[in-house]
Amino acid sequence: MADCLFCSIVAGDIPADIVLSNDHVIAFRDIAPQAPVHVLVIPREHHANIGELATNSPQATAQLLQAAQEVAAAEGIGDAYRLVFNTGADAGQSVFHVHGHVVGGRDMNWPPG
Ligand code: 5GP
Ligand code: ZN
Repeated sequence: MADCLFCSIVAGDIPADIVLSNDHVIAFRDIAPQAPVHVLVIPREHHANIGELATNSPQATAQLLQAAQEVAAAEGIGDAYRLVFNTGADAGQSVFHVHGHVVGGRDMNWPPG
């Protein structure tokens, strides 16, 4: 999609520190990490948020969740991490190409802020 930052990363037009790439998903380190591990996992195909992705493509949703677990395991946090999908601007979503934040490597508080 034109003017989508994460579509530009998928296309290779904007560089990113990619930690996983397959036919369906890429994962790359967040530019402003909030924890020792902070990786964004996204489908190659553009969907605005996790709700749209789940409605449009259950298979792509499962592929995204599997990739998140793979990333967490590869980063050494497979048994303790948080997977966050901010959905909507009022919930903190700033990039409207669905992305899961894989966050860990430190104590995580609950409830989140
Ligand atoms: P959101 O706020 O939409 O849930 O998450 C967007 C995330 O994308 C933020 O954590 C932000 O730091 C990250 N981000 C924004 N621009 C870039 C970029 O150009 N490269 C990378 N790697 N991350 C980005
Ligand atoms: Zn996009």
